[in-house]
Amino acid sequence: MQTLGINIGSTSLKMVLFDSGKAVWCGSGIHEGDFSAAAKKLLEEGNIPVGIKTLATGNEGRSMFSVAGTLEPLCVEAALSNLKIDADAVVSMGGEDLIVYTLDKGKIINNFSGNKCASGTGEFLKQQLARMDMKLEDIDNIPESAKVYPISTRCSVFMKSDCTHKLNKREATKFDIVFSLSHVMAVKVIDFLKRAKVTSGKVVLTGGITRNRHIVRFIKEGAPDIEFIIPDEAPVFEALGAAVLAKKFGSDLPDTEKLVKSGEVRFETLGSLKDWQSKVRTFEKPEGKVEAGRKYILGVDGGSTTTKVCLVDMQTDEITASHYGRTHGDPVKALKECLKVISDKIHADTGTYDIDISLVATTGSSREILGVFLETKGIYNEIIAHAMGTTYFDADVETIFEVGGQDAKYVLLKNGVPIDYAMNEACSAGTGSFLEESAAGDLSIHSAKDIGPIALDANAPCKFGEHCSAFINSDIRKAVQQGAGRENITAGIVCSIVSNYLNRVVGNRTIGAKIFLQGGVAKNPSVPLAFAMLLNKEILVPPSPELMGCFGVALLAKRKYADGLLAQQNIVIDDVINREIGYERVFVCQACENLCPIQVLNVNNSKYMFGGRCNMYTNMRKQVKDIPVFDCRKTPENVV
Ligand code: SF4
Repeated sequence: MQTLGINIGSTSLKMVLFDSGKAVWCGSGIHEGDFSAAAKKLLEEGNIPVGIKTLATGNEGRSMFSVAGTLEPLCVEAALSNLKIDADAVVSMGGEDLIVYTLDKGKIINNFSGNKCASGTGEFLKQQLARMDMKLEDIDNIPESAKVYPISTRCSVFMKSDCTHKLNKREATKFDIVFSLSHVMAVKVIDFLKRAKVTSGKVVLTGGITRNRHIVRFIKEGAPDIEFIIPDEAPVFEALGAAVLAKKFGSDLPDTEKLVKSGEVRFETLGSLKDWQSKVRTFEKPEGKVEAGRKYILGVDGGSTTTKVCLVDMQTDEITASHYGRTHGDPVKALKECLKVISDKIHADTGTYDIDISLVATTGSSREILGVFLETKGIYNEIIAHAMGTTYFDADVETIFEVGGQDAKYVLLKNGVPIDYAMNEACSAGTGSFLEESAAGDLSIHSAKDIGPIALDANAPCKFGEHCSAFINSDIRKAVQQGAGRENITAGIVCSIVSNYLNRVVGNRTIGAKIFLQGGVAKNPSVPLAFAMLLNKEILVPPSPELMGCFGVALLAKRKYADGLLAQQNIVIDDVINREIGYERVFVCQACENLCPIQVLNVNNSKYMFGGRCNMYTNMRKQVKDIPVFDCRKTPENVV
């Protein structure tokens, strides 16, 4: 007798066709909240006949299917019994959940699960891979020479920041980061096993993540006294159990069209964003033309997810060329790509590539490495750069909200001078990357440009609350599963990041009367509306809000030059595009117990040292033009 087991996970749908005591077909696919399409595809793939006994499992999702349902632990027990595995524990490593079941004679006696934290789950790994332009399949090609670096394991949001900073500071490669994330996931599994007091015996690993050989290796290395078993059916383990139980507890499989029920939305809702249009004022200023014979300033803002560059006329302060590109973990490559676009614009406007770029300045999280690459001393922090950019458009601005890819800032100004500020030091809540990742992952909105128009069509945005952005993914999935419209979920995510920003970055700080919203996220037309709605205040958006950092740092360079604090340079863009940065050796700084790895870089035959938790090497770069390379272990007195 054929039976079918269905497991509806938070990210994927799994099916097992069972006959004569064993699985005869297994299938799985990502559902992205569209259960009907995912189920139809799998049923066709497995050639599953209508009417066979079917049983569904999976926390939220099983109630969405018009077949009998059961609990996951019962399916785990049934699968173990079917495969005749006698184990002490089962680890279920799902897309969004990590659960350890402890067993006694094949029956579950306890379970240990994460508190809705996305850290250490497959979904989190997938999001991080996408950030680095990689897919799950690419993991198998990671060279064995990749290294594991210590990264924060408290929360996926902190981990994300840690990974980005390591990539931007060149302390690790993409492969090292994937290795390190795999290690974090393995450590989490081992921690859960320890909490469950399982330190020896047999443990079954299940879930799609068992296909990641590095995670499996790290788990085995971290718990050498445990014998780990990974059955062939590990990725569809609960679905196998459901198929086993379906003979007794299943119901007839209906036609595909009738398999998935339409849901009922249980989230509170907010008002339409469109109603706040009169409270948002956007400045418009088209980009100018580059003219031969004039002097220019190159302003560079190297952010964690995006790199922004603009060419500013030194006399008129007009932006004459600009580009905004993805950093993809390689700030130098991202800068070169921006410079190619700027170079093309220079050529298109003037017919020559040769103009007088007299000043160069950098800001943003990659400002140090980009400053070294551009051989400029004009390296300034983002707070001052953004304040310079904004006050250029309105000297009376009192508050700046800056929402970038992974950074969010708040600046309070008095008479144009920053008097208070806050940044999201270690937390990504309330930033654009969360907005983009959530929209891409769960709603299949793959272009950030599409988020705004979709959100503006919402008549009742879902209220997802103010908790940590890593948890909001679960809410989004619930809303999808409950059948909330794409527009209302998208607008709900927008309101959620704004709410997170206001609560986590601004907190109880003063918000002045004149508020500017800038950063790449301000280009999304729904975001200023959400700020206006949640604050009930007018929001001003400067022209090219994503360029305020690079524009501001260019203006700052001009002022520093006028004050005699920055020397003129003569930058030839095409020379910079062709310039290489050499990543030479890494040594361990032994000046204190932190033992930081320090990377030696070579730019135009000058050596620079990068890395470290403290500012020691940053300060050295600023004081000494051509630093001799030495090893702290041999000459520690040179360091201190
Ligand atoms: S770089 Fe700074 S924090 Fe790191 S080991 Fe050296 S002195 Fe210590």
